[in-house]
Amino acid sequence: MSLRVAVIGAGPAGIYASDLLIRNEDHDIHVDLFEQMPAPFGLIRYGVAPDHPRIKGIVTSLHRVLDKPHLRLLGNIEVGKDVTIEELRDYYDAIVISTGAVRDRELLIPGGDTSIGAGEFVGFYDGNPRFERSWNLQAREVAVIGVGNVALDISRILAKTGDELLVTEIPDNVHDSLRANRAKVVHMFGRRGPANAKFTPKELRELDESDTIQVLVDPEDIDYDQASEDLRRADKSIDLNCQVLEQYAMREPDDSPHKIHIHFFEEPVEVLTEGDAIVGIRTERQEFDGEGGVRGTGSFTDWPVQQVYHAIGYRSEPVEGVPFDLERNVIPNDGGHVLGEEGFEDSLYVTGWIKRGPVGLIGNTKSDAKETTDMLIADADAGKLNTPKHTDADAIIGLLEERNIAYTTWDGWYRLDEAERALGAECSRLPRERKKIVEWEDMVERARTVPQVP
Ligand code: NAP
Repeated sequence: MSLRVAVIGAGPAGIYASDLLIRNEDHDIHVDLFEQMPAPFGLIRYGVAPDHPRIKGIVTSLHRVLDKPHLRLLGNIEVGKDVTIEELRDYYDAIVISTGAVRDRELLIPGGDTSIGAGEFVGFYDGNPRFERSWNLQAREVAVIGVGNVALDISRILAKTGDELLVTEIPDNVHDSLRANRAKVVHMFGRRGPANAKFTPKELRELDESDTIQVLVDPEDIDYDQASEDLRRADKSIDLNCQVLEQYAMREPDDSPHKIHIHFFEEPVEVLTEGDAIVGIRTERQEFDGEGGVRGTGSFTDWPVQQVYHAIGYRSEPVEGVPFDLERNVIPNDGGHVLGEEGFEDSLYVTGWIKRGPVGLIGNTKSDAKETTDMLIADADAGKLNTPKHTDADAIIGLLEERNIAYTTWDGWYRLDEAERALGAECSRLPRERKKIVEWEDMVERARTVPQVP
């Protein structure tokens, strides 16, 4: 059977799902991969920290997928605004949504609205055109709430010198702000114990790799109850985290100019302000409750900090015309098939973080994509998919052009990629693999301008 599928969101989740669909041996499947940014790769381009080249390197395998003939990238298109889900039903047998989770969860404590969501800072330092172009880094002492990998990323970027990041793809505006960074001390706060930290051990070790940073843990914060011991025994990664944290707790402070303190059993309860200025963060000491959790002790500490970030998880945003669970911030689904109020939504599927919430590493989205695409294929076999009005592959291009939408393509990515690599090579101080282009219009222009052959 010949099928045309629209996948919405060209991050790892959408690309893995597209790959499984075009590789299907029983059906001849063509995929159009819609992306709202002018460039593909989603979280890899705009979520992974610039000093994590190993994870950024996943692009190489995603690139190979996008090179395949049955896959067509259509970027710079906002589904829900430029073209609706209902309209796409006229062009495709099925639609898969993979728009990820890009917003920060809210910090619901007094003064929490003065705290900056980690995603805002990540969007800035990763050169996402939707975020700020400069950043206020005047605070000498900074708090980061949460003990997951995003908290590690932003603590590390805050504690590094701007020049240490010059080997990466950061654009000039990001380097300028980071060079002026005055932060000397970063306090990370976990509300439970070391065995409940959400870090992965490799990333936790990396926190300490810069010559200018020393990571410290108060020995008082290294504590385990029976439930923590059980977790360590059951999960090697948790046990490794605990071992690394125990090493950090055995150190004396040295003369490294930047310190990152990781605190456990400290629940942030208020961001302290005077007028518009942040002057501290108040935490309540926690203790084991004997049932595998923690409870407040009624003992409070005020930490002098002048800026607060919260890295307490991301959340997905609704897609116009698609059911959304506002409590869990996901599209309701059963194994990837979208569920509306009256049962399964015809030919509508979901994969990645918007399907299961913002947890797990990039590799986890592969199994997720398999579950979703298996379901889609089973529905195709059972004759349950939508019958589109238009069967011509170029009909959708006609609609985009009729609406004057400056869509970008995979060839366009090659042009943008080349332009960014040329900018990286031109850097007089330190040539590097690429320097990102930030401005939206510049990206679209580079992607859409076909060089003239003389
Ligand atoms: P996460 O792993 O879920 O961590 C969130 C942290 O915030 C937890 O420590 C959590 O503590 C804490 N938290 C939540 N609500 C809180 C509150 N109200 N007050 C205080 N603390 C609160 O989320 P994430 O760091 O955003 O990461 C998302 C996913 O991306 C993860 O799977 C992560 O591994 C992945 N990621 C990977 C990398 C990498 O380099 N490999 C980089 C970035 C992200 P509790 O556990 O007590 O709720």
